[in-house]
Amino acid sequence: MTHATTTSPADTAQQFASDNYAGICPDAWAAMAEANAGHAPAYGDDRWTTLAADAFRSLFKADCEVFFVFNGTAANSLALASLCQSYHGVICSDMSHVETDECGAPEFFSNGSKLLVAPSTDGKLTPAAIRAIATNRTDIHFPKPRVVTITQPTETGLVYRPEELQALSATCRELGLVLHMDGSRFANACASLGCEPADITWRVGVDVLCFGGTKNGMAAGEAILFFDRRLAEDFDYRCKQAGQLASKMRFLSAPWVRMIDSGAWLRNGQHANACAQRVARGLDGVQGIEPMFPVQANGVFLKMAPPLVEALRAKGWRFYTFIGGCVRLMFAWDSQPERVDELVRDLREVAAAAAGAANG
Ligand SMILES: *Cc1c(COP(=O)(O)O)cnc(C)c1O
Repeated sequence: MTHATTTSPADTAQQFASDNYAGICPDAWAAMAEANAGHAPAYGDDRWTTLAADAFRSLFKADCEVFFVFNGTAANSLALASLCQSYHGVICSDMSHVETDECGAPEFFSNGSKLLVAPSTDGKLTPAAIRAIATNRTDIHFPKPRVVTITQPTETGLVYRPEELQALSATCRELGLVLHMDGSRFANACASLGCEPADITWRVGVDVLCFGGTKNGMAAGEAILFFDRRLAEDFDYRCKQAGQLASKMRFLSAPWVRMIDSGAWLRNGQHANACAQRVARGLDGVQGIEPMFPVQANGVFLKMAPPLVEALRAKGWRFYTFIGGCVRLMFAWDSQPERVDELVRDLREVAAAAAGAANG
């Protein structure tokens, strides 16, 4: 194996393959430095953790129970496990992170609760899809549907509007289902809709929210908010057993205090969303490149012929194509507008070259 001894400019230039490529935002970094000034009680008995939970309660205007874990897979899996018995089922979209990107963790931590996967064309769940799965089988041989999980914004960069959420939760109530929201990019949804966090959670019937800090600009950490406190019973034990009780909890919680107080959580989401819009605008009318989904949050998904995809790679860009073969571009709190423009320029160039070749 060889080791690179120098860093070429290409290695430090921003890439938009994932919002997790970004570093730690200044507010989160400063909060960690502040929390690092001396000793503090461990395992969440510190003042930062108390302040962070209170910050969430005032941000959401709700007396919710708040927990902090290291990552989104744990947040989702443990939240879902706490809502289910092992014989229950969790209704989710076929494009959901819990189904496609968590290595079976929701099933593992729930001791076997089955994901009941709804087909979708765009990653969104609908009341009809929920109803179809929840009422298809009522016999004892099939897992009993218990939870619906939705992602806000979706893995395809779409945002559920408050009235859509209201309709989903009405269906859940009617069918005796609990509503969980995977908000690994929750800030981007709030920024996109311009609404209060409460307007797309407990006010429209969401019972549990996993609020992502990592993609919002923290080093690590997700908050789990139980709006129905009864659902949080023994959740602390569940976190500990799963290896998710941070001994130096203050470094997971302190960044939230500052980011909520300063509004950085929302500004970061707004900036990332604006970069996605910049790309969408820059590609408007370009032949051979089409958005696969409307751009509503911080992701852009581009339908392009395979030779164009390869040409874009050849220009040094990194990206994933796991959603229907399209080029996925994700923007973050620190995405540089000039670098976003370079990406747009290169996209336009590969499209123009392909069009030229076809005509010539
Ligand atoms: C990134 C992400 C998560 C969290 O993933 P981890 O890598 O476990 O932190 C959860 N849900 C969605 C939709 C995501 O995009």
